[in-house]
Amino acid sequence: MDASTETLTKTRVTALPGDGIGPEVMAATLQILEAAKAPIEWEAAEAGAVCFNKGSVTGVPRETLDSIARNGLALKSPLETPVGFGGKSANVTLRKHFELYANIRPVRELPGVTTPFTGRGIDMVIVRENVEDVYAGIEHMQTTTVAQCLKLMTAPGCERIIRAAFALALAEQRKTVTTATKANIMKLTEGMMKRVSERVGLEFPEFRQEHIIIDNCAHQLVVAPEQFDVIVTSNMNGDIISDLAAGLVGGLGIAPSSNLGDHAAMFEAVHGSAPQIAGKGLANPTALLSAAIMLLRHISAFGVAEQIEQALFITLAEGKNLTGDLSPKGHGVGTAAFTEQVISNLGRSSNLPSRQYSRLALQAWPQLTAHTEPTTRELVGIDVFLESDMGSDEIGQALETLAQDSPFRLNGVSNRGVQVFPATGGQTFLVDHFAARFLFKHPITLDSSSANGQPEISYLVQRIGTRFAWMHIEKLQRFDGKDAFERPQGEG
Ligand code: NAP
Repeated sequence: MDASTETLTKTRVTALPGDGIGPEVMAATLQILEAAKAPIEWEAAEAGAVCFNKGSVTGVPRETLDSIARNGLALKSPLETPVGFGGKSANVTLRKHFELYANIRPVRELPGVTTPFTGRGIDMVIVRENVEDVYAGIEHMQTTTVAQCLKLMTAPGCERIIRAAFALALAEQRKTVTTATKANIMKLTEGMMKRVSERVGLEFPEFRQEHIIIDNCAHQLVVAPEQFDVIVTSNMNGDIISDLAAGLVGGLGIAPSSNLGDHAAMFEAVHGSAPQIAGKGLANPTALLSAAIMLLRHISAFGVAEQIEQALFITLAEGKNLTGDLSPKGHGVGTAAFTEQVISNLGRSSNLPSRQYSRLALQAWPQLTAHTEPTTRELVGIDVFLESDMGSDEIGQALETLAQDSPFRLNGVSNRGVQVFPATGGQTFLVDHFAARFLFKHPITLDSSSANGQPEISYLVQRIGTRFAWMHIEKLQRFDGKDAFERPQGEG
């Protein structure tokens, strides 16, 4: 749609100027959007260092949360995370508070930004799950030397990110959706994302669909990045490959992203607050401006978005008045001159056309369908994680004795996921953290009417507690006759 024919109804958006260079790139971005008559009314709010310094524990005050909740939309500059004090990062707090589960990172070659990959035609989007996986931050020291982080992946979490990837592919008229996982190793967590993508993918036969192991994906991103169109992946995988992909087209300094949820969306630059250049008027606002362009498309202001994008493209392509990070040494200009240059180019078109976009419509959870509950659940045993300095044979024999008059039998003992009792002949380095696997002599069918193995488990754990310090217990279940747990390496 032509910018001049678009509706002039203004959308209210929360603007977070943030820390370091944040206020400078925010001011530049708002100036360009105002010059282009973007239909947005801004509501300023605070987050980050300025709030931590005022004593806020989270770095995100109530008024800011209320503003974003009211508007459902935010444009955010970088926020500093205090190192060595304070709680969680304010960025993570915002993502989690609003359940912004889809992190969308477009990666496209920009005119005038020369890299070793220039001319390859890189134009992809990475869709990263943004709230689950090891980033749920559920960590516990198991012993004084062994740390544990839970990698939680859920069926709804996988389904909504996979659906977000297909919704994005539809909105941007893309052709291929690649699911990147480590399902070959983590068959239950990463494997869940692969299985859900295969199931949901049946609803979208118009797209070419493929699965790639994440390490090969990283390799392919460097060897032949132009092959990718939409990549969807889990949180940590996506964190790493999206930075890698940004590096292919000019780096984090020019990369934008959006964080989408069912009730709110937040748009931001990928870079941080760059304290070294803060307050000097040198920062490049390209990343935040590109995030604002994503925001405009999100509110269906496609014409204004394209107009600003083309002004940015032509500014970069002509190479006049670029900031220091994009110029030969000594030839860069400040943020203000760059901003004026983009504004003066509004209305011009570059040689790189904007993509055709339509509204990206996410499906809310109640409409999701891929997850089906199993009809039968059995409890087949438990893993008891315990701390011990004893040798594995001694531990195994002691546990066998302790289980003797219980409804369980000891199946084996493992250390860091490798079976060490009964011995396999492997040369495992032992730490003081063992997992003892006990199987029920007669598996228990789980239903709401029985005690579901509780008395039997309590009895065994109490017996184990007489000789060992145990840390936690995991139930071993079977869903519809299929093991819902993995076997340790080396188990026969
Ligand atoms: P950074 O702020 O991205 O800065 C690294 C370097 O990149 C800067 O020193 C600067 O290089 C260059 N740079 C980044 N953005 C630029 C821009 N717009 N224009 C010109 N140059 C730019 O990374 P960091 O130093 O690791 O992190 C600093 C703080 O930002 C930390 O507190 C971190 O927690 C926070 N952070 C926040 C977010 C977020 O809010 N989403 C993301 C990442 C980091 P030169 O020094 O060579 O000029």
